[in-house]
Amino acid sequence: MVEEGIINKEEAILRVEPNQLNQLLHRRIDPQAKVEVIAKGLPASPGAAYGKVVFTADEAEELGKKGESVILVRTETTPDDIHGMVEAQGVLTSRGGMTSHAAVVARGMGKACVAGCSVLNINIKKENISVNDLVIKKDEFITIDGGTGEVFLGKVPTIEPKMSKEFETLLSWANEIKRLGVYANADTPEDAKKARELGAEGIGLTRTEHMFMEQDRLPIVQKMIMADNKESRDEALEKLLPVQKGDFLGILEAMEGLPVIIRLLDPPLHEFLPNLEDTLIEVNTLKLKNADPDELAKKEKLLEIIQSLHEMNPMLGLRGCRLGLLYPEIYEMQIEAIIEAAIELTKKGIKVKPEIMIPLVSHVNEFKPICKKARKIANEKIKSAGVKLEYKVGTMIELPRAALTADKIAEDAEFFSFGTNDLTQTTFGISRDDAEGKFLLKYVDDKILEENPFEVLDREGVGKLVKLGTELGRETNPNLEVGICGEHGGEPQSVEFCHSVGLNYVSCSPFRVPIARLAAAQAVLKEKK
Ligand code: PEP
Ligand code: MG
Repeated sequence: MVEEGIINKEEAILRVEPNQLNQLLHRRIDPQAKVEVIAKGLPASPGAAYGKVVFTADEAEELGKKGESVILVRTETTPDDIHGMVEAQGVLTSRGGMTSHAAVVARGMGKACVAGCSVLNINIKKENISVNDLVIKKDEFITIDGGTGEVFLGKVPTIEPKMSKEFETLLSWANEIKRLGVYANADTPEDAKKARELGAEGIGLTRTEHMFMEQDRLPIVQKMIMADNKESRDEALEKLLPVQKGDFLGILEAMEGLPVIIRLLDPPLHEFLPNLEDTLIEVNTLKLKNADPDELAKKEKLLEIIQSLHEMNPMLGLRGCRLGLLYPEIYEMQIEAIIEAAIELTKKGIKVKPEIMIPLVSHVNEFKPICKKARKIANEKIKSAGVKLEYKVGTMIELPRAALTADKIAEDAEFFSFGTNDLTQTTFGISRDDAEGKFLLKYVDDKILEENPFEVLDREGVGKLVKLGTELGRETNPNLEVGICGEHGGEPQSVEFCHSVGLNYVSCSPFRVPIARLAAAQAVLKEKK
C-alpha cells in the first residue's frame, strides 16, 4: 500500500502489531488444524514444535542428532540441560516462569518453549506425563505452541516461517524512525551473528556463566570452586582464562564495530556443582555399599562443599558482585580475558568495543572497587600492548537500592543496564522462579494485576525505579548510557515505556530484535500523535 501511495510509511509501521512478526520468524500451528488442548502453561518462547517426548537432555541430544524430532520435557531445566535443548525441537517444563532458565535459553535459541505447565505431572522414573486422566509415555508425540502456552497430543500440522522482502522493508523503515537502540542478549558467536542478521546494533548482555557451564569447562570451574587455597584456585583460573578469551574473541569479532556488553559472573557458585540432594543420596549409597574409601572421601568432600555453599535464598545470596568481592580472582580472570581478546582483535585491525558490566550492585561501595580494578587491569594491558582501544565499565541496576542511589553509582559508571528480571523480583518481593506457578497468574486472572510483571514491565512500580534511576544517574553523569537487558527488552509495551523514559537502548533475545525494532518505531509515532 505504501508503494501504491495509499498509506505512508508511518501508517504502515503502526498497522503491524509487533508480536505478529513472530509468525514470520517461527513455525506456527496451522490454523486449519483440528486441535485438542491437553494442558496450558506459560507462553515462554514463541513457535510451534512437535516431537517425541523425552525426559533427559542426553536422550534429547542422542535422538536429535539422529534427526528425530523431540520435545524435551523437564520439571525445570538447568544449565546441565543445554546440550539437550540444542537438539530438541521444543522444551516443556512444569515449573518456572517467564524468566526461568528454560524460557530464557529457549528464547535465545529461537526455540519453542512452554514453561511452568503446572497441570503436568511428570514422572521421570515411570517415564510418563499425566494430565488429569491422560497418560503420555516416553516416545509418544506431543506438540507445543510456545506463543500461546498450549500443549497438544500427537503431531499437529505446522506452517514453516517465511521471511519476505516486505519484512526487511518494513523493518528498514522502523530503523529510519526509531530513536532507541536495539541490542541483543547473546552468549555465543553464533547467537551474536544471528542477532546481527536480525538487526541488533550491539550486544546488551553476554551472560558469562553460560560459558562456564559448557561440558568441557565445567570440571575446571568445579575445581576452581572446590579449591581450598588460593594457589589451586589460581591454577584452575589460569586454565579458564584462555577458554574465556576464546569465547570473547568470537563474540567481539562477530560484532565488529558495535558495542558488546559482557557481564562478569553472576549466579551463586553452587549452580556449578551437582545437586545437594543427589549428592547426599550418592554418599549414603556409597556408605551402604562399603565402597572404596577414597571414592567415598571424595564424594563426602564434594558434599561438604555443596552444603557450605547452600543458602536458603540463593537469589538474594552470594552472587553477582558479592562473588567478585569475596573471590576477586574470578573477576580478575574475566576482565583479563575480555581485554586480552579485545587487544588481539584490535591488533588485527578489527574494531571492537568491549564493555564490562558488574552485576547485582546494591551499594556504590560494591561497585567502586571492582570498577577501579577493571580499569587498572585494562589500562595496564592496553598500555603494554601499545594499542588504541576504548572500553567502558558499567553496572546492572537490578536491585531497588541501586536505582534509588543511582546518582552515587553513576559517578563512576559509564553505563547502566536495568536488569528488569531481578528488579521485578526484588521490587515486588516475588520469586522469579516460583511466583508464576503459585499465585501470580491467578493474580492476573483475578485482575489483581493487569499483566504478569515478569512479562510486561510494571510501569507503576518497577518502571518508576527505572525512570528515577535513569534521572538520578544522569544528574551526576550526563553522558551515562542507559538501557535494559531483562526479558522486558523485547516486549512491545515495555519497549514503548523504555522509549518514553529516555533510555538509550533495549536489549533482548536475538529473535525478538525485529519485534523491538518495530515497537521502538511505533513508540516514536505514538508519541508524535
Ligand atoms: C535481569 O535480572 O534482568 C538480568 C538480565 O539478569 P539475569 O536474568 O541473568 O538475572
Ligand atoms: Mg539479574
